[in-house]
Amino acid sequence: MADIIKLLPDHVANQIAAGEVVQRPASVVKELMENAIDAGASTIKLVVKDGGKTLIQVIDDGVGMSVTDARLSFERHATSKIQKAEDLFQLNTKGFRGEALASIAAIAHVEMQTRTAEDEVATHIKIEGSKIISQEVTVAPKGTSMMVKNLFFNIPARRNFLKSNNVELRHIMDEFHRVALAHSTISFHFYNNGSELFNLPTSNSRQRIVNIFGAKTNEKLVPVNEDTQVVQISGYISKPEYAKKSRGEQFFFVNNRFIKSPYLHHAILGAFDGLIKKENHPGYFLYLTVDPGSIDINIHPTKTEIKFDDEHTLYAILRSTVKHSLGQFNVIPSLDFEQDQNLETPYNYKDKSAELPRINVDSSFNPFKESSGSGTAQRPNYHKQNTKSWDSLYVGMESDLGKNSGFSSVSFESDTITGSIFENKKELIDTGTTTFQLRRKYVVTTIKSGMVVIDQSRAHQRVLYEKFLKNITIKEAVSQQLLFPLSLTFSKSDCAIIEEIQDSLTTVGFVFDNISEEEVTVTGVPLSVPESEVGIILDQLISDYQQDFVVDGFSQTDILAKTLAKSLSVKTGEILDSDSQLALVNDLFACKESGVSPFNKPIYVTITEDDIDKKFI
Ligand code: ADP
Ligand code: MG
Repeated sequence: MADIIKLLPDHVANQIAAGEVVQRPASVVKELMENAIDAGASTIKLVVKDGGKTLIQVIDDGVGMSVTDARLSFERHATSKIQKAEDLFQLNTKGFRGEALASIAAIAHVEMQTRTAEDEVATHIKIEGSKIISQEVTVAPKGTSMMVKNLFFNIPARRNFLKSNNVELRHIMDEFHRVALAHSTISFHFYNNGSELFNLPTSNSRQRIVNIFGAKTNEKLVPVNEDTQVVQISGYISKPEYAKKSRGEQFFFVNNRFIKSPYLHHAILGAFDGLIKKENHPGYFLYLTVDPGSIDINIHPTKTEIKFDDEHTLYAILRSTVKHSLGQFNVIPSLDFEQDQNLETPYNYKDKSAELPRINVDSSFNPFKESSGSGTAQRPNYHKQNTKSWDSLYVGMESDLGKNSGFSSVSFESDTITGSIFENKKELIDTGTTTFQLRRKYVVTTIKSGMVVIDQSRAHQRVLYEKFLKNITIKEAVSQQLLFPLSLTFSKSDCAIIEEIQDSLTTVGFVFDNISEEEVTVTGVPLSVPESEVGIILDQLISDYQQDFVVDGFSQTDILAKTLAKSLSVKTGEILDSDSQLALVNDLFACKESGVSPFNKPIYVTITEDDIDKKFI
């Protein structure tokens, strides 16, 4: 057989390598900014167009490159930062692989201008898909300007895979934050589509955090400082009362390099234990300095993970240092999370004397009868409106249940889960159903063969979820106008998310007057949303989007409906009056999928007479 193995040509090898280094525009931003820092720049300018798809430019005033180096810098494995394998263990630079420029040049149109302090003229090189197009002498200030245009121009699959400009911009902002936070003594400018997004002057680390995340951040920060033989820790944690539902501001830097470490993150969570609610996330900006010889940053191609020699010690030190700061700044005693909310007497019940409970039985109650029963619900807007419009979403499901008094004509049987317990719809009706609430958590109702225990919160989530889905699908949301516009402050990247999902938010009834860089003005909210919850809901939404990163229409509406349902649903611990209980039962079993919550949790269990009988044997 003839020989078949061939060495790949350089430009192909580079393209393959690029797949690892460059996932999206943000990766290019990261590599170019890190090169600028390694070059000793004191000012770095980042210019981006169309989420980085059209243009990414990084201009620095660092050491620049000679003519030869300028040319060489685009070769694979060409680096000035290490010379031998041992150097890997004493790294003081961001880069060391010598792959970034070669990779970027393989998949984009690149233009570089660079000049060293000693040279009088600058070098101007153009490269497209690894091919040098031109190399000229030019006039330019000391430093380097790298322009990257039309990313993935020669890999259509990759280009198509990119998300919307807003999403890509958000990724870029994330990278920008990381680099800017790690180097507060360098000044940064960030321009997006011609307008200035960030202007960060040289400062200390606290000012840098505030300049990036907004003036309000300042009061949240508690300093952290510790100096040990193993590690030196400095930075800030945010006070427990500012812990957010969205993950947001969590930053570890090791030797000024941003890293991700679930293990060290856990140490912080440990320090915050008992101070913040389970669903909230603490904010932190922590700078660790360790001996470069004690870490290995080589384990991940995009270099956000590193390996420590002595992780356990680091964990312990970090945890106790953060704990210490929390105590020292008096943030602990002011909080009392110990109290069991379930044991607390509701405010307006405190002074009342106990009464014998009265049980109201509505023997004529018919859960499958339309209107009256559900209309008197305690919670605002809880009842179903305009049942007809459900048709558009649930084709095939009977919408005019009330029309026929004979229930035999109701065709629920075709529906999946509803069918399983109420196989015979008459069950519910015959018993003259009554309901009661158990431990402010469950609504219990009877069926002929026994009883059903319904998780009130999950049931309501299901009802609201289907309602919001319907609203979004048929675009028939009812909005209530706020008396005064509500201004809410968010970070820039959070505002970018809101802008991105603005259309979907509008379909459920939000009305925005203005979304600026750090402020959102709301003038209308969905009918059932109390004004006091708007901020919390938007916060939750941002967090859900951050975690899921979906942008296609369907998932976006799904997340939106889920988040709203979760935020607005009756919670465990809330008292429901008997009308609301009935309405909930009624609405639940009118749902398309009454068996599982939008988050795939069971909503109810049935306990049959048999089950009960068995207990008495
Ligand atoms: P690495 O950063 O891993 O060394 P790169 O491909 O990013 O690899 O860069 C290759 C080389 O080009 C660097 O080692 C450096 O010498 C030079 N270089 C890249 N960007 C700059 C810059 N902005 N200023 C000066 N030199 C640079
Ligand atoms: Mg580099």
